Amino acid sequence: MDLAGYRARGERFCRDLGRAQYRQFAGHQPPGGPAAVERSYGDLFSGDAVTELRELVARASGPGDRREQALLRFAAEGCLVSCARELEAEAHTREQAIELEIGGRSLALADAARSQAVEPDPARRAAIERARLAAIERTLNPVRAEALEQVQSRARELGWPSYLALHEEVSGIDLAATGEACRVLLDTTAGAYGEALGDVAQAVLGVEVGELGHGDLPRLLAGEPTPDTGEGFNTRRLWSSWRETLAGLGLDPAPPGVRIDLQARRGKSRRAFCAPARVPGEIYVVVSPVGGREDFAALFHEGGHAQHLASVDAELDFEHRHLGDNSVTEAFAFLFEHLIDASWWRSAHLELTGPDRVGSLERLLMLRRYAAKLLFELELHERGAGPTGGARYRTLLSEATGIDWPAELWLADLDPSFYCARYLRAWALEGALVADLRDRFGECWHREQGVGDRFRELWRDGQRVDAAGVAKRLGAGSLDLAMAAGADSRTAPPPPDAIARAASRSRR
Ligand SMILES: [Zn+2]
Repeated sequence: MDLAGYRARGERFCRDLGRAQYRQFAGHQPPGGPAAVERSYGDLFSGDAVTELRELVARASGPGDRREQALLRFAAEGCLVSCARELEAEAHTREQAIELEIGGRSLALADAARSQAVEPDPARRAAIERARLAAIERTLNPVRAEALEQVQSRARELGWPSYLALHEEVSGIDLAATGEACRVLLDTTAGAYGEALGDVAQAVLGVEVGELGHGDLPRLLAGEPTPDTGEGFNTRRLWSSWRETLAGLGLDPAPPGVRIDLQARRGKSRRAFCAPARVPGEIYVVVSPVGGREDFAALFHEGGHAQHLASVDAELDFEHRHLGDNSVTEAFAFLFEHLIDASWWRSAHLELTGPDRVGSLERLLMLRRYAAKLLFELELHERGAGPTGGARYRTLLSEATGIDWPAELWLADLDPSFYCARYLRAWALEGALVADLRDRFGECWHREQGVGDRFRELWRDGQRVDAAGVAKRLGAGSLDLAMAAGADSRTAPPPPDAIARAASRSRR
């Protein structure tokens, strides 16, 4: 295999895909661009490319291993994604077209959660939920089940005993050990989570936990409505709060090469994302503000990715700038996102006082939900799909969240290539990063200009070192999921993610 040629072509693919994603999802071009790019670079993700890279990794035993391992993962994950591309596209098209009928009125499926978030009547929230789940089960799940079957059988065709075995080998993550750590995490956080859920259910909805349904979650997590008086999560403060926060840390809010798009535009995706076309020189951050806390979380998360990627050393190899362990870039994205839940930040930028109980709950909920998701995916991909997929998903998620979790979501909730493990590791690394900043700069590290220099020092390396290696460098010993739960009491929720979405489309 011409490895140098493969790398160069891989880098061009990332550039073309990043640009196509930006143009389509920012609303500048009609759909189809990213799929066309993926088709035209199909050779990068062929079965032969995967086999040749696998042989190369098996033969290698020097410092170059990590680079070749990164290429193998790039090729193998891309190969699986591409084999189900048509079906995924079909599911997406169907999803966009679904209109729910609620009490004689029509509601787009994409707007269901947002409607639940602003709906004061619990019976109407439940009606939206029933209609939404029925539509998902009837219209989307058959296509997604077929896509799942395809990627699982493709993994076997490539020569691995299962989809799980393939990812265990190419990801560089000990998924079984991460699963064990998830069991411990679920045990150790159960008490704190139950308490937080009970408090917020009472404070926001005035109900007991037992009365909560899945359809109440958007309303619960929206918290108290934002007053229209200027304070709070007001869109007018979105850009200025980002600019001032970054300036306080000694960082440039829009470094060279980073384009941040906050404008409303017809055809623009509601889901925020970061599309890195060239790392470090051409990175797009796209957010569609709709009002409220979600906009801030989205800008700080995606902006956090861009800060990291824009500071990567341009001299590094393609693999270390564009590939590697995404847990690293996710850790920095979450660190920025979680700033908005800190009481110092809320009082300095939004004139809000008091603890953010909803944010604390959301952080624990996400941790526990992702821990349960990983346990489910480990079982699913070891044994293959089957009629019990939804039932098992419901059991695991309901136990973890304390809410009767809908079985119908088992396919929509699957992360390609075990990306949920990258999130869990990212939260652990974020805990180690915060501990490092406190050690160096004290409790008020967020007001220290030196933080920017510390970040730039860590960012230069891109993803050359994986999350466990970065944790070690920070003196944290190992990457321990307990660090995620104990990161601190600030809180957080991963909203629509970006790089994760890009991961399914672009193999990042
Ligand atoms: Zn992210």
